Amino acid sequence: MAAGDGRGELSDWDDDWAIETRGIRVGHRRTAEGEHSEPIFATSSFVFASAAEAAARFAGDSAGNIYSRFTNPTVRTFEERLAAMEGGEACVATASGMAAILATCMGLLEQGDHIVSSRSIFGSTTMLFDKYLSRFGLSTDYAALSDLDDWQRLITPRTRLLFVETPSNPLTELCDIAALAELAHRHGCLLVVDNCFCTPALQQPLALGADIVIHSATKYLDGQGRAVGGAVVGDRKRVGEDVFGVLRTAGPTMSPFAAWVFLKGLETLSLRMQAHSANAARLADWLQQKPGVARVYFPGLPSHPQHDLAARQQTLPGGIVAFDVDGGRDAAWRVIDATRMLSITANLGDA
Ligand SMILES: *Cc1c(COP(=O)(O)O)cnc(C)c1O
Repeated sequence: MAAGDGRGELSDWDDDWAIETRGIRVGHRRTAEGEHSEPIFATSSFVFASAAEAAARFAGDSAGNIYSRFTNPTVRTFEERLAAMEGGEACVATASGMAAILATCMGLLEQGDHIVSSRSIFGSTTMLFDKYLSRFGLSTDYAALSDLDDWQRLITPRTRLLFVETPSNPLTELCDIAALAELAHRHGCLLVVDNCFCTPALQQPLALGADIVIHSATKYLDGQGRAVGGAVVGDRKRVGEDVFGVLRTAGPTMSPFAAWVFLKGLETLSLRMQAHSANAARLADWLQQKPGVARVYFPGLPSHPQHDLAARQQTLPGGIVAFDVDGGRDAAWRVIDATRMLSITANLGDA
């Protein structure tokens, strides 16, 4: 594919490249300057050689950039790299993780369609489904994350999409992605997995049968809490055309500067996820031995009810640990306020 017209289609890497190599090497087409690090194309529009070429590009007869709401080379590099890491054909980058979920629903669903989502999902996602998408004729029901029978029970002839986050936030409950994909496909539905907590470094939902992967790039993909962004990864038709069409028209696109920040994040993603997992495992183990800690939730602990599934489905347990303390909310708030090294903040995956 010619440089400049990309929607995250992959042209210049091999299947046998490890994810670490993909995270560093995929997607950068060097300019005539021979730069080593990816440039930030801080430009809103691109120039045409002639009026005829402008017309041809707008008509789709000639490849190339037009305007950065449609495509931008720095954003495209991020899209191609993340697609390669997730094992998808196409990726579109978005202004935030929520914009990725919105664009996916707008691109793939229509009035009257029904969504089944896991109940334990990101709060704004519930709000998007219940408060906003419901106004446009999309309805949502919520299943118990790990209970396949519950998902099956909620599927209707109008169900088009199953939406799940695994592991869940914050109690690290898992769903069997391959089994849920099989259920979805048996009923003619798509399976969308929000892969925020594992990232492709630890879990690759598309290889397990999922159709679409969603990211809040804000979290681990950045890894240093600097920028808000998101992405949708999947096949060429649904993501490269249908979801891209929404982005191009409605406009919640990623800025070139944010894309560059996330590109730098992808270079170290695998190493960071290994370190997060190792640190979380030590913390979970330590917490488990503390008096006053009633229960620890971490997929890497043998006491986790889905420890075996986590070991099968993820390469490592991830960086999220939750715990209950004796004494209810007052006691829990005292623990939070007594911490000295931890930040009390609304983000995750930051250093
Ligand atoms: C943060 C988050 C989102 C939303 O992403 P934003 O970048 O904040 O819009 C979606 N899903 C999960 C699991 C998240 O943690």
